[in-house]
Amino acid sequence: MSHIHTGSCLCGAVKFELKGEFKKFFLCHCSRCRKTSGSAHCASLFAPGAALRWLSGEEKLSLYRLEDTNFARTFCSVCGSNVPTDAKSRGLVVVPAGCLNTDVDITPQAHIFINSKSNWDEDLASVPAFEGMPSS
Ligand SMILES: [Zn+2]
Ligand SMILES: [Zn+2]
Repeated sequence: MSHIHTGSCLCGAVKFELKGEFKKFFLCHCSRCRKTSGSAHCASLFAPGAALRWLSGEEKLSLYRLEDTNFARTFCSVCGSNVPTDAKSRGLVVVPAGCLNTDVDITPQAHIFINSKSNWDEDLASVPAFEGMPSS
């Protein structure tokens, strides 16, 4: 049974629909994911055999592929948001979880490439949390 997931970039130019199921959900701390996300890790959902359809903004998409690797990122050329990458050669759609507007029905299954993680990426669950920006 297939589910319909939808998502968009920050500026709203790019909108998509994904028909399929998320089978894997990894938090990847590798240096490539740290660079492209500017953060501690990527949160990547893997949907083998899923059908990705661009609802708007397809002409705004940019694809970056790291030479001689499988590593690729699709992003909005206006706002820079990561959006799904259709890895057709691998029969797989890779979806950055943060670009989805619909709920995800699975939870992260693993942190991966933790040997590459940043030196400040330790025990982040114990850092104080605020609903918004803390007042100084
Ligand atoms: Zn955008
Ligand atoms: Zn990675």
